[in-house]
Amino acid sequence: MAKTKTGSAKKFGPRYGRTLKEKYSRIDSLQKRNYPCPVCNYKKVKRENLGIWKCQKCNAKFASKAYTVSKVSTRTEQTEEDTQEIQIEEQSLDVESEVKEEKTQSSKAASAGKGEPKGK
Ligand SMILES: [Zn+2]
Repeated sequence: MAKTKTGSAKKFGPRYGRTLKEKYSRIDSLQKRNYPCPVCNYKKVKRENLGIWKCQKCNAKFASKAYTVSKVSTRTEQTEEDTQEIQIEEQSLDVESEVKEEKTQSSKAASAGKGEPKGK
């Protein structure tokens, strides 16, 4: 009989088959691991629910992948600067368009306000 590396899937005993149990134990070991916290950098982040991770040290709660925490801290350091610049540009554009919309809306409202109540 071939030995299987079932890990935490040992609790299933002889049931459910080798392939499924190996998949389960691989994911289970990933999700039970302690991950580094993006806020305080302590390896204290545990999975609270599907995709929801909570730091035991600073109680920071954040969303990530369902069974693992994606390596955000190393990747975002490079990309954050680029995205932040883009976001700032977009925000300034949004503010301009919002101001225009407000002006048109207020002018419409003013004209509508003059017309309606006197008619009734
Ligand atoms: Zn933390």
